[in-house]
Amino acid sequence: MNIPTQEISVKNTSVKLFIRREDLIHPFVSGNKFRKLKYNLIQAKKENQTTLLTFGGAFSNHIVATAYAGREQGFETVGIIRGEELASKINENPTLKFAQDCGMKFVFVSREIYKLKSSQEYLSELKQNFGPFYLIPEGGTNEWAIKGCEEILVEEDKKYDFICCATGTGGTISGIINSSFSHQKILGFLSLKGDFLKEDIRKFAINTNWDLISNYNFGGYGKVSNELIQFINEFYIKNAIPLDPIYTGKMVFGVLDLIKEGFFPENSKILLIHTGGIQGIQGMNIQLKNKNLQTIQIND
Ligand SMILES: *Cc1c(COP(=O)(O)O)cnc(C)c1O
Repeated sequence: MNIPTQEISVKNTSVKLFIRREDLIHPFVSGNKFRKLKYNLIQAKKENQTTLLTFGGAFSNHIVATAYAGREQGFETVGIIRGEELASKINENPTLKFAQDCGMKFVFVSREIYKLKSSQEYLSELKQNFGPFYLIPEGGTNEWAIKGCEEILVEEDKKYDFICCATGTGGTISGIINSSFSHQKILGFLSLKGDFLKEDIRKFAINTNWDLISNYNFGGYGKVSNELIQFINEFYIKNAIPLDPIYTGKMVFGVLDLIKEGFFPENSKILLIHTGGIQGIQGMNIQLKNKNLQTIQIND
């Protein structure tokens, strides 16, 4: 797979900025979710499983990716969705609507039950209800996902000093860390509030040349501000590159802010990983419109 890389021009700095367009891999199974599913689907077939079961929230890129890739490869799919109130709102939610159109069956659960997502007891109960399934954890992160994300960086990426990516569950950054070069520093921009993540990443990552940056989560997972929305819109006008509000928008905002602050040494070469997530814009815009806030202006 040859994924395009684009240079982004930044004023008043010697730093050079590039972006790897993993969002272009596929319009629905975008970016890192494609990488994370790749070896899981191979493994599910090896185990002769016919159903994929996974977990996600209202706008989950992972739910969309699993539903779509599952259908493409002949799997039944079940999505355990966080929030009982969403059951009656599928038609108002483009993410869930798309997954349903791909044949995904939903189970809407309360936030309390959703927290049981890795409890053996709850998973056995699900097996009684749905029959045998191949479990893909929330956000798709497991050892097979890391293996897939190790394919994001390639040999030619040796020339970069910093690799930056958005971080949710930590699977993507773990794969990037594992295939990085020792002179490089990998920076994960947290899209949520979470100190637990460092431990999770240490479980999967074999190198220590990384750090997490938490100042650009904009209040937490799925939270946005008018400043962030304006930034995404301006970035799109300037560079013709769409960013999503949950992950990549926050990461790119953070990187540009750090460049302004002089965080990166002179002449650094920075590679941003565009992990996708564009499908989530429509759902976010519905929410913003309902609150009479500015929306994301991206036409493709
Ligand atoms: C899921 C997702 C991430 C976070 O990936 P993790 O492996 O969970 O850290 C980043 N960007 C986008 C667009 C995503 O959909």
